[in-house]
Amino acid sequence: VFRKRFGDRVAVLHSKLGLNVRYDQWMRVRKKEADVVIGTRSAIFAPFDQPGLIIVDEEHDTSYKQEKKLRYNARDLAVVRAKMAKAVLILGSATPSIQSYYNVMSHKFKYLPLLSRVGGGVLPKVSLVDMRGRKNKDGEILSPELKEAIGANLQRGEQTLLFLNRRGFAGFILCTSCGYVFRCLNCHISLTYHLKEATLCCHYCGFTLRSPALCRNCQGKDVLYLGLGTERVEEEVKRLYPLARVARMDRDVMIGRRSYVKILKGLRDGTIDILIGTQMITKGHHFPNVTLVGVILADLSLNIPDFRASERTFQLLAQVAGRAGRGERPGEVMIQTYNPHHYSVLSAMNHDFFRFYKDEITKRRELSYPPFSHLINFKIRGNSLQSVVQYSYKLGDLCRSLQQKCEESRNGLQVLGPVAAPLSKIKGKYRWQLLIKGRQVRILHGFCKRVLEEARGIRIPGVQLIVDVDPMNML
Ligand SMILES: [Zn+2]
Ligand SMILES: [Zn+2]
Ligand SMILES: [Zn+2]
Repeated sequence: VFRKRFGDRVAVLHSKLGLNVRYDQWMRVRKKEADVVIGTRSAIFAPFDQPGLIIVDEEHDTSYKQEKKLRYNARDLAVVRAKMAKAVLILGSATPSIQSYYNVMSHKFKYLPLLSRVGGGVLPKVSLVDMRGRKNKDGEILSPELKEAIGANLQRGEQTLLFLNRRGFAGFILCTSCGYVFRCLNCHISLTYHLKEATLCCHYCGFTLRSPALCRNCQGKDVLYLGLGTERVEEEVKRLYPLARVARMDRDVMIGRRSYVKILKGLRDGTIDILIGTQMITKGHHFPNVTLVGVILADLSLNIPDFRASERTFQLLAQVAGRAGRGERPGEVMIQTYNPHHYSVLSAMNHDFFRFYKDEITKRRELSYPPFSHLINFKIRGNSLQSVVQYSYKLGDLCRSLQQKCEESRNGLQVLGPVAAPLSKIKGKYRWQLLIKGRQVRILHGFCKRVLEEARGIRIPGVQLIVDVDPMNML
């Protein structure tokens, strides 16, 4: 599209390009042979002298944050770069991040509404399936309502997406009678369930509870551990619809780009009737024949141990809803949930970002989470659990004693943890974390600098300390 319009004055920069090609493209920009750069994250460093316009599409997407080596958030850098160059910056999204919309409300950004739906078409009809209090002896994942809709869709020869909004594997406990979820009283994030120890614990502050037998809200006995995978959904779908052509798309199956392309092609050609998948299926594709989207359980992303869980859920639900019926036929979306009154679910159902923002920003203010505070996450990694734990506690002691030494940090900062990360071991490396929360950036950063200087004195070999400023991923 861009080449048609601007000819060869366009350069492309992204990390999948070979080193030589990337160098070429980079040099073309330097030599002023290109006026337009299209690229991913790192394109924000494109060597323009005077950028006039920077556009960040899908600005809410957390993948703008680079999590390896040099940690940066390309969206935030775009804000800085535009300011320095006095350029115009456009952040685009159908589901803006709370951070960016807060900047609109505080008059740092200007809001430009898009008045019609891209590609036309009507918004799909969204309905909720209340899963509470159902007697479900066989532990079936699909409700009768959703089953019926899938069956009808199959008969019409139309396609169905089943979406599992799971991130990581942090399990939690939920009361299937009333929908109550155990949360940390200090941090308000969902407590993570540990099967082996039979405990629930908060992965921000370390608060731990023996795994309860009764619901705290309704005293019912139906408190259940919820950990669902796409495999289980696939099994059930295949059992229920033996004649349907079923495919699955998640990180376990999608090893190469080829399998990914194959599934997308299958959807387009109509050789797949039902596709089951995670986040991957929400990203930007357009399937005119998909007329039904089923969200297996909204609660899965509502309860990831992260203060942004509600924001992510709203974005995910709004985005999957956008997958349905962009063609000529109107789409239908069914969301199964134990929390039908949660504002994330309700506002996604009504396609109402503003209502969501109002509720969410109130929560953030109450609990003093960003944008009303700033976070720095010290991540501690190592191959030996003992060393990692030892280091973490020493770092925790150091933080607390430094905090006591000065009045600003005593009043303006909160030290949470240390505690194991929700995903406590990845690729053989143990992971712990220590979270510092502060209302003012200046105090927070000053404090963390002092901590880092003193932390050099902690001599435990084989442990790596990573400083994550404004963390996007708390797993
Ligand atoms: Zn835990
Ligand atoms: Zn907590
Ligand atoms: Zn209950």
